[in-house]
Amino acid sequence: MSDWEPVIGLEVHAHLKTRTKMFCRCALEYGAHENSLTCPVCLAHPGALPVPNGRAIEYTIKLGLALDCAIAERAIFARKNYFYPDLPKGYQISQYEAPLCGPGKLVVPTEDGEEVVGIVRAHLEEDAAKTVHAGGATGRSVGATASLVDFNRGGTPLLEIVSEPDMHSGEEALRFLRLLRQTIVELGVSDAEMEKGTLRADVNVSVRKRGEEGFRPRWEIKNMNSFTFIGRAIEAAVRQQVAAHEAGEEVVQSTYDYDADTDRLTVHRSKEEADDYRYFPEPDLVPVEPPAELVERLRGELHELPAARIRRLEPLVGFALANELVSTGNDRNAELLAAEGVDWRAAANVAMNRGDFLPENAGALAAILQANVTREALDQAFAAAATGRIDANDYLAQAALGDESELVPVIEAVLAANPEQVATYRGGKEGLLGFFVGQVMKETQGKADPKVVNRLVREKLAQ
Ligand SMILES: [Zn+2]
Repeated sequence: MSDWEPVIGLEVHAHLKTRTKMFCRCALEYGAHENSLTCPVCLAHPGALPVPNGRAIEYTIKLGLALDCAIAERAIFARKNYFYPDLPKGYQISQYEAPLCGPGKLVVPTEDGEEVVGIVRAHLEEDAAKTVHAGGATGRSVGATASLVDFNRGGTPLLEIVSEPDMHSGEEALRFLRLLRQTIVELGVSDAEMEKGTLRADVNVSVRKRGEEGFRPRWEIKNMNSFTFIGRAIEAAVRQQVAAHEAGEEVVQSTYDYDADTDRLTVHRSKEEADDYRYFPEPDLVPVEPPAELVERLRGELHELPAARIRRLEPLVGFALANELVSTGNDRNAELLAAEGVDWRAAANVAMNRGDFLPENAGALAAILQANVTREALDQAFAAAATGRIDANDYLAQAALGDESELVPVIEAVLAANPEQVATYRGGKEGLLGFFVGQVMKETQGKADPKVVNRLVREKLAQ
């Protein structure tokens, strides 16, 4: 184990799934024609006044409650001043000293216990518009011949969740992020899809000697939108910082970009301090004072959260599968099948590997799964079960061929046709079993029961 300890904190941004923008009535619509969803408020015309979106405030409180946060009795919107072409007001409306949701935590279940990640705050702000660099390399400002701004995104309600620097490996950070994402999605407050840009994360990384108190300068990696790259960027940052500290070089607190091609981080710009933004309370908006009844109603709307479900499913399928099922949102389907009598582990595997299905088909699918039908019939049943109601009887007739007297001649023919592979297998290369099974499945047009074929092939080859 290295004597350096990584210290990682995350700032996660999620676009809220409201119908309209944060401070105006413009619709939010992914993929709409550029600049078709704008008005004087989100285009920052002089004199236009913001009106907060009540639904966005409710969504933020709901997430705050799921993260065990203290909900502010009085939250204040603040102006964060900076210049950027996609920010026509010259400031972003955010929350600074008095965020809606105060300290909280997310308890992340692990194989041998749990990791508690502190939540510093969760607040509400508006997103900037989107700058598109045209010409030159895709999406890059370097070499572009023009930069265009799409104001449709400007004013989208954005939830920002800031964690404590409580994570100590890329793996831990990803586990936290996956669980947080699943929690956000299940609360129905955001689709939180990285590919669509509705979930982004800034990653703060520093390292220190094990046992050392306090923190060394950190690097901030902005706007990450892929789990894979977040993991790699953290590893690269740790590697580069450890090398610098050991070489006696100064590690400067700064914003960095991760270059996936070279797997290295390069300085983006030196870090602004909060002072640079000259935050001050937004004079056009009154403080938000959520009534206690509202907070309690929202608390009542929380269902069993993902972390709790992982713990509940763990004794049934083991930690790894429980974690995977819940983090991908597949546990509901597994529960439906298990409730119809399918063995839990089998139900979990089916839920992970087969597509989604309508809940009313759970009974029929369970009957088909337990009847051991052909793979083809199973494929057809699941495909149909995704869109409409299915009848188990339509598939049960296609029972898998498990009759030994029918299978043995096929197996003998396959072995006779492949003497070299048979010799190799008998010489110790048992991985070839799959090859023989595959040939038998092919000969029977996929109708054979693979479990029976497996056993029979193994027996024949042992003779
Ligand atoms: Zn607008």
